[in-house]
Amino acid sequence: MKITFPHLGYCSIPLRSLFADLGHEVIVPPPITRKTISLGTRYGPEFACYPLKLGLGNFIEALELGADTLVMGGGIGPCRFGYYAQVQRDILLSLGYEFKMLVVEPPLGHAGEFLAVLREVLEEKSWFDLARAAQLAVVKLGACDDIQRASLKLRPLVQDKLAFSRLYQQTLMEIDEAGKVRDVRLAKNTALTAMEAIPRLNYKPPKVALVGEVYLIAEPAANLRIEERLGNMGVEVCRHVWISQWLRVNIFLDFLRLHRQEKAEKLAQPYLQCFVGGHGQHSVGETRKAIQEGIDGVIHVYPFTCTPEIVARGIMQKLAAQEGMPLACFSMDEHSGEAGFQTRLEAFVDILGTRSKEMNSYS
Ligand code: SF4
Repeated sequence: MKITFPHLGYCSIPLRSLFADLGHEVIVPPPITRKTISLGTRYGPEFACYPLKLGLGNFIEALELGADTLVMGGGIGPCRFGYYAQVQRDILLSLGYEFKMLVVEPPLGHAGEFLAVLREVLEEKSWFDLARAAQLAVVKLGACDDIQRASLKLRPLVQDKLAFSRLYQQTLMEIDEAGKVRDVRLAKNTALTAMEAIPRLNYKPPKVALVGEVYLIAEPAANLRIEERLGNMGVEVCRHVWISQWLRVNIFLDFLRLHRQEKAEKLAQPYLQCFVGGHGQHSVGETRKAIQEGIDGVIHVYPFTCTPEIVARGIMQKLAAQEGMPLACFSMDEHSGEAGFQTRLEAFVDILGTRSKEMNSYS
């Protein structure tokens, strides 16, 4: 098979490793650019969620490079994610592409379909081969998350932001190329030591909780590199969604039926009792958590027309107003422009600075 998948931040690193170790040719779509966005928006429905359009653009670019098998996540609602794969498949077929689409359904309640996709990907390989390939992929994903976590903490403090960015990119490349678990760990540990060694400013950065829809949080091309921008402005970002943690809960624990209510879901309960799709409940819960933990501000990012996050936004605005918590909401799509975005972020960071000065003068 010539396998491809849509981008989701650095997830192409573990996915490439997984499918290549199972003996497939992997065609990673080119990085998301204006061309990807215009392909997705030209052929995707106007009011479809932004991630659907970007994924469609990724698929078109990968099919043009020779991919013949598309791997896509499935879902069961209540929001639109469950329809993504079907809509994308119909659009691509209508454009004349020939391919097979493998939809990975959530294992809880769909164990048979989940296992059927795994069997198809395995072809001649054994379950043991899958376990070995999955182990390396999971270690790579965890290493990427660790590097990103360190980057969120250290970027606001380091003096040479350019050198820091180069080190970050170089480390991701090394993790991508590593063929063994120990090589991944070596690349990660060397990078963490090098990051710690970069000279720092003597400064206590304000902290911002970044909450919202998972794709918008994890894909820098969709969120206009919000984490990097905030880090360069001297702000520490506390992110609530990590893909390795999301996989652990939604794939492994779901599959073993061990999934328990998460802390953010519990915190959201007094305001939002039911699952509204996506990360709507988490966004509310994480806002409460940020208030309880004394975080300086909350930034909410979500795709334009994303129903779960629109539900969450109303509650978050009320909570933030009650508690005096600065909150900025960014609804993003193909029309989001960098200049306006940067200006709004800078204004928000100014508010954080003014607020912390006021708080210090009262204490
Ligand atoms: S969470 Fe929002 S953006 Fe994602 S599929 Fe659901 S409605 Fe669309």
